[in-house]
Amino acid sequence: MEIKQISVIGSGTMGNGIAHTFAQKGFLVNLVDISEDALQRALVTVSKNLDRQVAKGIITDDDKVSTLKNIKTSTNFQSGVENADVVVEAATENLDLKLKIFQDLSHFCKEDAILASNTSSISITKIASVTAHPEKVIGMHFMNPVPVMKLVEVIRGYATSDEVTNTVMELALKLGKTPVEVNDYPGFVANRILMPMINEAVYTLYEGVAGVEEIDTVMKLGMAHPMGPLQLADFIGLDVCLAILNVLYQGFGNQKYAPCPLLVNMVTAGHKGIKSGNGFYDYSGGLKDLKVSQKFNINRS
Ligand code: NAD
Repeated sequence: MEIKQISVIGSGTMGNGIAHTFAQKGFLVNLVDISEDALQRALVTVSKNLDRQVAKGIITDDDKVSTLKNIKTSTNFQSGVENADVVVEAATENLDLKLKIFQDLSHFCKEDAILASNTSSISITKIASVTAHPEKVIGMHFMNPVPVMKLVEVIRGYATSDEVTNTVMELALKLGKTPVEVNDYPGFVANRILMPMINEAVYTLYEGVAGVEEIDTVMKLGMAHPMGPLQLADFIGLDVCLAILNVLYQGFGNQKYAPCPLLVNMVTAGHKGIKSGNGFYDYSGGLKDLKVSQKFNINRS
């Protein structure tokens, strides 16, 4: 099957990066969101990220122009998806929302369209169960920031066909990514391992073992992680981290995945990390001048 037309559902942190990556490789992208503002913000972000690639000599000015030309935006779901060969859903991490979107995709898309979800943790098998063709549903889990990160975790639902899996593995290669095939169990591989580490870092803070900077420094310098787990949690979005931990906790029924009460409180208070301007760090001064959030400032005087 020749793949040319891609629809990306959701234009937030991940959706704009996914649209950017496909468009840069010559695919025609329809970026669909319920919010016109979100779509406009996404186009600004893509343009800025392309400028960064031009400045680094990764792409030319002409590449930037042709990439932007390949992206169309829409708030109309039906017209945004009806021509798609492949849909990549990257809407908010919420089970009911994703089930509704996949029911609609099953209704409006071409019979042979591949329906992929960028979900961080929700069961692909469950998402597929509400569609007419569960064999065509698959996980295509990009990493943040999408234009930079090489990995795509390709998740086979219980019913996903070999043909669809092979097509999506090849598609990821065409994007210049490295696909890794995994099976559909809570958190897949990436978040089953990453989220307990982030949760443990939050517990370490919550129990007063060490401060934010101390925890992040130990993991950066001691384990050669490019970013400490608390900064990474802010980057991913604390609401997204909490949602994934809840999927692990409910999916395995094991106390070891229970989200730290501090994480729950922060999300409930609207402190979601970079996207809300405050998390473990305070982003009011921008991303470069990293300051620990006032809430966690330890006064040593
Ligand atoms: P986000 O909150 O930044 O963006 C979500 C977007 O979806 C918003 O623009 C919202 O308006 C839109 N949306 C909501 N309902 C919609 C609908 N019915 N139709 C179309 N658009 C709709 O979220 P995000 O961080 O980009 O996460 C998106 C998905 O990617 C989630 O499933 C998440 O788990 C996954 N993911 C996130 C990360 C990360 O680091 N943030 C990494 C990998 C995967």
